[in-house]
Amino acid sequence: MLADVGIRGERIVFIGNAAKSRLSAARILDATGMIVAPGFIDPHTHTTEDLSDSERKSNLNYLMQGVTTVITGNDGGGPSRVAETLERWERQGIGTNAALLVGHGTVRRQVMGMADAAPSPEQLVGMKIMIRQAMDEGALGMSTGLYYAPGSFAQTEEIIELAKVVTERGGIYDSHMRDESSYTIGLLGSIRETIRIGREARIRINISHIKALGRDVWGQSRAAIRLIRQARARGVRVTADQYPYTASGTNIIAALVPRWAEAGGNEQLLKRLDDLNIRPRLIADMEANLRRRGGPESLLITSARDRQLIGRTLGAIASGWNKTPLEATIDIIKSGGAGVASFNMSERDIVNFMRQGFVMTGSDGSNGHPRKYGTFPRKLREYVLDKRIITLPFTVRASSSLTAETFGIPERGKLRVSYFGDVIVFDPATVADRATYQQPELLATGMKYVIVNGKVAVDRGQYTGIHAGHPLRRRLRTLRKK
Ligand SMILES: [Zn+2]
Repeated sequence: MLADVGIRGERIVFIGNAAKSRLSAARILDATGMIVAPGFIDPHTHTTEDLSDSERKSNLNYLMQGVTTVITGNDGGGPSRVAETLERWERQGIGTNAALLVGHGTVRRQVMGMADAAPSPEQLVGMKIMIRQAMDEGALGMSTGLYYAPGSFAQTEEIIELAKVVTERGGIYDSHMRDESSYTIGLLGSIRETIRIGREARIRINISHIKALGRDVWGQSRAAIRLIRQARARGVRVTADQYPYTASGTNIIAALVPRWAEAGGNEQLLKRLDDLNIRPRLIADMEANLRRRGGPESLLITSARDRQLIGRTLGAIASGWNKTPLEATIDIIKSGGAGVASFNMSERDIVNFMRQGFVMTGSDGSNGHPRKYGTFPRKLREYVLDKRIITLPFTVRASSSLTAETFGIPERGKLRVSYFGDVIVFDPATVADRATYQQPELLATGMKYVIVNGKVAVDRGQYTGIHAGHPLRRRLRTLRKK
C-alpha cells in the first residue's frame, strides 16, 4: 500500500493521500522506495541498566534496529521496585519507550535468599505482596527464569500461586523455561509446565526465546509447536518470542554448572568446587552439560574480567593453559566467571519456530552477543529479503502489533490514526545487521528514519541525540472471566 502518514505532536493524525486531502506539513520526510512500518517492539531485552545509565540511556543499538519500544526485566530478573525505575527513566529521559516485568527471581531472592526449598506459607504471602505491588506500580506482568537459580528452586505450584496475583491485575506470565534442552524435564516437559501454569492460573503466557538447545533435542521444534497449537485450540493464550541466531547467550555457570551446586549462593558454589567429596559428582554433571551444549569448541567467551579470554573458545583456552576444558572452566569461575555465546541451535528448528503466527521477534539482547545490535534487521535481511522464508507483512506484525497485543501495550504497534507516532522508515536494499560474534557492537544499517512519539530520533540514518521515549505503565484492562 502506498500512503502518506501524518503526525502531529505525539500522535498519528492522518494516513492516506495528503495531496488529495490538501494537507501540508512543517516537515516532510521522503520515503520513496522505502518501507514505512510501525516502530518495532522488543518483548525481551536486558536494558534496565542501559536505560538507567547516563551514557547509554538513548538505547541507540535498538533505535538503529527500528525498535521504538523495549520490554525489560525478563528471565526472572526484573526489579521489584517498578515505580522507582520507571520514575528514574521519566526524570532522566530515555531513547526508546520502555516497560517492565517484575522478576520472580528477584522477589524470591529478597524473600528467601538462594534457598533450594519451597516457600513457607508466610514467605509465599510475602512474595505475593511484592508482586501485587509491582503490578500496581505498572509492571506488564511477571517474568521467571526457571532455568536459573533461584527460579530453578521453585516448584510449578509456587509459580501458579504467584501467577494468580498477576492474573488479578490483568498481566502476562513471561518465562525463560526450566529446560530448553535435556537437562532436567526437557524442552517438551518445560512447554507442558508453562502451559499448565497458563491453564491453572488462567493467565496469558509467553515463552521467552523459544529454541531447541543442543543436539539431544534438535528436531523437537515440531513437537513443541504441536503442544502449543493444541493448548491454543483449548483456549490457553500461549505465544513465544525468538531471536534469529544459532548461538544463545548466557554465562558459563548457568551453562555448565548444575543448579544443586548453586544452592545457598555463589560462596557455597566456590566452596563446593574445592570440596574433594563433592567435586567428582560436580565434574561429572558439568561434563554432561558440556556435551549437551556441543563441547568446548561451541562455547565462545564474550565477556570476562580477564579480557584476553574474550573472543576465544573454551577449547582454545583450555589447550592454551594445558588443562582439560572443565579444569579451565573452574579456573574461569573462580576468577569471576564469564559470559558465553553458546552455539547450540539448528537452523531448521529456528525456521520452524519463526514461521509460526504466534512467534514474535525478540532480541534477548545481552552484552557480547550480536543479537543486541542486530536481531530485527537480521531477520528482515536474511529471512525475509534474501532467503524469502517469511514475508515482510508477517515479519512486521511479529515485530510490532503482535507484541503490543500480547503484552498489553495500547495505542502502539500499528500505523493507525490516533495511535502514538512510533514510525520507522527503512530501505529494503540496505537494511541489515552488521554485528558479529567477533564484533558484537556494530550498529545495524538501513533505518532511514526512526520516529519515537512523533519526534525524529534517527534522521537520514543518523541519531539526532533526542530522548523521546516514555516509560510505559500497564493500563488497567477489563478482565475477561471464563
Ligand atoms: Zn532468558
